Amino acid sequence: MERLQKVLAEAGIASRRKCEEIITAGRVQVNGEVVTTLGVKVNPSEDEIKVDGRAINSQQKIYVLLNKPKGVITSATDPGGRKVVTDFLPGIKERVYPVGRLDYDTEGLLLLTNDGEFAHLLTHPKHHVPKTYQATVKGVPHGTLLDKLRSGVQLEDGMTSPAEVEYADVNPDTNETVIEITIYEGRNRQVRRMFEAISFPVIKLKRIKFGPIFLTGVPRGKFRHLTVSEIKELK
Ligand code: URA
Repeated sequence: MERLQKVLAEAGIASRRKCEEIITAGRVQVNGEVVTTLGVKVNPSEDEIKVDGRAINSQQKIYVLLNKPKGVITSATDPGGRKVVTDFLPGIKERVYPVGRLDYDTEGLLLLTNDGEFAHLLTHPKHHVPKTYQATVKGVPHGTLLDKLRSGVQLEDGMTSPAEVEYADVNPDTNETVIEITIYEGRNRQVRRMFEAISFPVIKLKRIKFGPIFLTGVPRGKFRHLTVSEIKELK
């Protein structure tokens, strides 16, 4: 027997904390009875557990990598009717959630899964999963400015931790520079804010790597399933 919130989290409904809220909100039924208390233990292979009327037991764990286009919201639904990342997962019937977020205008590698514990683990600030971005800026920032990004810049929510920063491409025709930056945190709009702090606002941002996983080979707007060894490496 296991605690209901743990079973829900392992079935990919949400993080354990969020599952507790889902229970206390009265959205969970066990064998037809609404359960709103947190101490309840269940047998996941025998009890029929439903969230919002949908059975959870049969959910298979799935892990996908989407090459998110810009102009798309990192969310499963949007009340305003704008495009959301799950619109780009035709054929995926499981209810999946994004692992962290990419801004509306950021493109590139986004993982989605119905494994709530996995998503929670990878986005927890303690985990420091490296994430690599290609940031395009106007002009050519001087090396000493990039050193500032490497050692840490002051943002509204504190100093950033050390980052790896390299020139990837300088295009004299457009006067644009592509810089590859790897950060180990995941604060809101962090890369954009770091470049704003050195007065080189980002005009295009693309995530090309998450932990050991590369975006390579997945066209924009398309997805692929992670391999078993990729899932193991991330865990
Ligand atoms: N940093 C940003 O500024 N935006 C993203 O989407 C991701 C990281």
